[in-house]
Amino acid sequence: MPLLADVAVPVPLSQAFTYEVPAALAGEVRPGARVLCEFHRRKLLGVVLAVSERSAAIDPSKIKPLAALVDARPALPAELLSFLQELAGYYFAPIGEVLRLALPAIEREQVRALKAQGELDGMLDLGRAKQVGGRKVAYATATDVVEEPGTLRGQAAAVLALLRANGEQPVARLEERYGNARSALKKLAERGLVALDEREPPRDPFFRLPEERDVPPELNPAQAEAAARIDAALEALSAPERAALSAPGKAAPSAPGDAEARGAAPREARPAGPSAFLLFGVTGSGKTEVYLRAIKSCLDRGRGALVMVPEIALTPQLVARFRARFGDELAVLHSGLSDADRHAMWASLHGGKVRVAIGARSALFAPVPDLGLILVDEEHDGSFKQEEGVRYHARDMALLRAHRAGAVCVLGSATPSIESVALVRRGKLAELRLPERAHREASLPEVTLVDLRRFGAGPSGDPLISLPLHRALERTLAAKEQAILFLNRRGFAPSVVCGSCGNLTTCSACSVALTYHRGRRRDARPQAPAGAPAPGAPGPAAPIDERPQGGLLRCHYCDYAGPLPERCASCGSRTLLLEGLGTERLEATIAASFPEARVARLDRDVAGKDRSQAILARMREGKIDILVGTQMVTKGHDLPNVTLVGVVNADAALGLPDFRAAERGFQLLVQVAGRAGRRDRPGRVLIQTRNPEHPAIAFAAAHDVPGFLEREIRDREEVGYPPATRLALIRIDAVDEGVGRGAAAKLAAHARTCPDGLARRVEVLGPSAAPIARLRGRYRFRVLLRARERGPLRGTLAALTGLMRDGIDRNARVIIDVDPVAML
Ligand code: ADP
Ligand code: ZN
Ligand code: ZN
Repeated sequence: MPLLADVAVPVPLSQAFTYEVPAALAGEVRPGARVLCEFHRRKLLGVVLAVSERSAAIDPSKIKPLAALVDARPALPAELLSFLQELAGYYFAPIGEVLRLALPAIEREQVRALKAQGELDGMLDLGRAKQVGGRKVAYATATDVVEEPGTLRGQAAAVLALLRANGEQPVARLEERYGNARSALKKLAERGLVALDEREPPRDPFFRLPEERDVPPELNPAQAEAAARIDAALEALSAPERAALSAPGKAAPSAPGDAEARGAAPREARPAGPSAFLLFGVTGSGKTEVYLRAIKSCLDRGRGALVMVPEIALTPQLVARFRARFGDELAVLHSGLSDADRHAMWASLHGGKVRVAIGARSALFAPVPDLGLILVDEEHDGSFKQEEGVRYHARDMALLRAHRAGAVCVLGSATPSIESVALVRRGKLAELRLPERAHREASLPEVTLVDLRRFGAGPSGDPLISLPLHRALERTLAAKEQAILFLNRRGFAPSVVCGSCGNLTTCSACSVALTYHRGRRRDARPQAPAGAPAPGAPGPAAPIDERPQGGLLRCHYCDYAGPLPERCASCGSRTLLLEGLGTERLEATIAASFPEARVARLDRDVAGKDRSQAILARMREGKIDILVGTQMVTKGHDLPNVTLVGVVNADAALGLPDFRAAERGFQLLVQVAGRAGRRDRPGRVLIQTRNPEHPAIAFAAAHDVPGFLEREIRDREEVGYPPATRLALIRIDAVDEGVGRGAAAKLAAHARTCPDGLARRVEVLGPSAAPIARLRGRYRFRVLLRARERGPLRGTLAALTGLMRDGIDRNARVIIDVDPVAML
């Protein structure tokens, strides 16, 4: 019988392909190794999934031999490889694309050598970002010059829009996205719209920080209890019999469909006792210290650990604490790494030199040696769900990977996700509680609700800076303390409306309003808007003519950015009004009302990775009095002198057509409130709302997290949304509206007529237009599948993938989103 290898190639097909292992390579080709293989007359780089001696299921004459073996030592360890296969099965994602997630740091030297021989045409070569010159890298930035409307087309327009939307970019990254990036940049630079610069790439920011010496504190009783239970779980899983239980590689890649992602039931042979935990502790209760102890226990048993955090660029302090404890045992994985540094990190984990990795969502795929522990900090955070490509949820998959690896998993949060709380109730996660702040003096802040229906505009004239908030800011400044103002909207004004006909300026590619961004200005203290609008008005509106010139209209959903139009597109009137309040305008209003205060802003527009750290550092050093910002200010920064947090508009997030809107609003409020008053200073939180009775607001004001969770779980049960049910969202989009609608209708009909649909084990909702009906020029539709049990849902999805392969108009794109998070 021939020796056959199943190889995943980087094509968007879910199956692996069979090749023959040439006699010369027998014994050397192992699962996880990269190989070169011929695929439709091209040589592709693939990854071996399995090797076995067997008779081929297909015509043996059609089986080609492998062209070459790239890795002597498999690039993917067995544990990771079988996890990736399960993940692919769970999400109905092509195995080739899933493998790409885990191989960012390919051993490029070898690949280059092959390339030189003309052997390679592979998409797995992720070392595509080219270095320009020696160590120097070329960067492009949009200048402040604004073009005549309509004079840019094609890639030049797209590249410029991207630069305006995202700030400076390495040219190599633009080239990955736009084939003609170079000539487009040349054109743009000639017209003064773009500036090009060549310089050394920045050093890894996390290693610029000095590493302080760290003396582990004595744990308080709650921490000690949590640490002991995690330690006991590590002990149970690290006992000798573990080797037999979960020897990597032996875990035959069982039918991927069986992957039980959400808190799988322990296998029979497993030791008793929980191995997955929810660490539920208020902000500042010392969760991080528990993580540090858990990692220590894990390392002491000779095993590796993985830490996932929502946004690593925003958490240098957290990383510093891990470094202070583990020093060079720690690999910090983040998007700011150069390819060489990323590769070095990956290789040192893969080679077992470094045993702890910390990073954002994609760290889930780090090749941590003998994985014994996965920690997910702020597990409720939405950024753990990837919303493009393979739509995986890193928290759910952390539970799966840990389970399969025989590792302990700890999910930590001050505001646990409803999903995790449900797993606790079903006995799949054990709960560990830290009920109090670690520093005895630090009490929870006092929260006051400001009912905007009763309080009008304060002295600033802006109806969203009420008198109580204004007074609280004054008191904070007088006491030489700091304040944070949270507003969930970037830009200056969220909408531009015609003063004559009321027409809203929308994006030409998306069915959403364009946001007016005034952009960076030297003059940070403009005049307060003239003439205060009546209290209770929806928001200040001012004719653009009275506004400083310049600025851009931007779409927050696509890369569009362009100048303000001269006239209303609908009636031709010149009176365009800026409506609503964004962070730029809030910053300007506050700066005008408190001329003595140092005001700064933190949102995605001001903050590249380095900038956000610089702003937070200035805040910590007391060089900023009032920090205005979006979610970015809510992440776990330890800012001890912040005694006032103002939530400018708590209602903004609650009205979205999404069953998680209340949960998200609640989490945001609790997290932002947690920024107030750490250590010895009592904090105050002011929440402005028109809806003080809304449970998300009322429970947040009372610091009653369990109360909210209880009620929200009940509500979900009543309306039949997760975690009471399971969802899969079929997302359909097409340039042509009819094509999209037709495909959606066909998919829905098919879902209804497959056995589980007919038996009503799967409920089919739709087809319907998505809440954002058009995005980037494509019309969006959806079909929502809902079921009590996962089996029928999977069965229906499997039936649909068949239809998607050959029964759907090729101009429609269909994406399966299992356990969807973004519902818009
Ligand atoms: P969390 O991660 O839950 O927000 P942290 O771990 O950041 O909380 O702890 C908050 C603060 O309390 C930190 O400054 C930390 O150093 C300190 N801390 C944590 N545990 C202890 C302890 N057992 N004794 C003294 N200080 C502690
Ligand atoms: Zn008009
Ligand atoms: Zn758009």
